[in-house]
Amino acid sequence: AKHSGRSTFSWYTPELDADAQKRKEVEAGLVKAIKFDQFKLLYQPQYSLRDGKLKGYEALIRWDHPTKGTVKPDIFIPIAEDTGLIVEIGTWVLNNACQEAAHWEDKTRRVAVNVSPAQFIAGETQKRVATALRNSGLDPKRLEIEVTESLLISNTDAVIETLREVRDMGVSIAMDDFGTGYSSLSYLSLFPFDKIKIDKTFIQNLGKDASTDAIVTSIVGLGRSLDVIITAEGVETEEQAILLSAAGCDLVQGFMFGRPDSIDSHEANFPAFPLN
Ligand code: C2E
Ligand code: CA
Ligand code: CA
Ligand code: CA
Repeated sequence: AKHSGRSTFSWYTPELDADAQKRKEVEAGLVKAIKFDQFKLLYQPQYSLRDGKLKGYEALIRWDHPTKGTVKPDIFIPIAEDTGLIVEIGTWVLNNACQEAAHWEDKTRRVAVNVSPAQFIAGETQKRVATALRNSGLDPKRLEIEVTESLLISNTDAVIETLREVRDMGVSIAMDDFGTGYSSLSYLSLFPFDKIKIDKTFIQNLGKDASTDAIVTSIVGLGRSLDVIITAEGVETEEQAILLSAAGCDLVQGFMFGRPDSIDSHEANFPAFPLN
């Protein structure tokens, strides 16, 4: 702290360089990953709390890196968003999720696909959704698009229009990570949504903190008045599931009900609803 500006500068520079270097490496790796088809989708089940039935799966991307093994999306999705590579990766996700879901044995189960704001802002999302549906033959009613609140802060008019067009195809729209962004409530009246996913940070504090319990109960009530389906994500314990059931939550997703995995292993394990 006693040193001049120059030494402060040189203290931080190597770190920034290392970070920039790392991002460059990931970016170059992603270009190869697209070219050599190194991505795969895992699926996490979503159950109805009413009848215990498996209603569908959320598709979650993984990168099978040739030397690093399986890389999680938190490492590469933000970089893909910054570099614009997300458009190509996101299109791959849409096409593959639709293609795979069209081949599932149970043709009533839905597939939920995450679409990042950067994809919407790049444009043509409605076209890409339509193409994925047409090429796969998937019933649009089985496709759900998960968007985050941050999408709604930017580009409002264009985004509303895109969401409306996608919804007019019969695809449903879920608001992901609900409660973590800004002005959630005012956005709800502006945008066409079918589903709200309560963020896992709330679910993880259920039963531990009275105000969290009250917030979750209010979101469920809000869903009921708006005629919107409520999903709780990140459900890890039976206590959380029981509290959510008592609150009237519609759907649950979380490690307690199944981790992201291949459809084949979910089917082989005959996922049974663990509540009575
Ligand atoms: P998300 O959309 O909020 O997805 C839920 C994340 O929570 C997943 O992490 C999932 O594995 C994790 N999770 C599920 N159940 C539990 C639980 O009970 N406890 C805890 N602690 N975590 C749980 P994952 O697969 O690492 O994905 C992280 C994020 O990466 C996703 O968050 C999503 O924002 C993004 N992402 C994943 N796949 C895609 C994709 O295909 N496209 C885009 N644009 N983003 C994606
Ligand atoms: Ca999601
Ligand atoms: Ca989420
Ligand atoms: Ca998230």
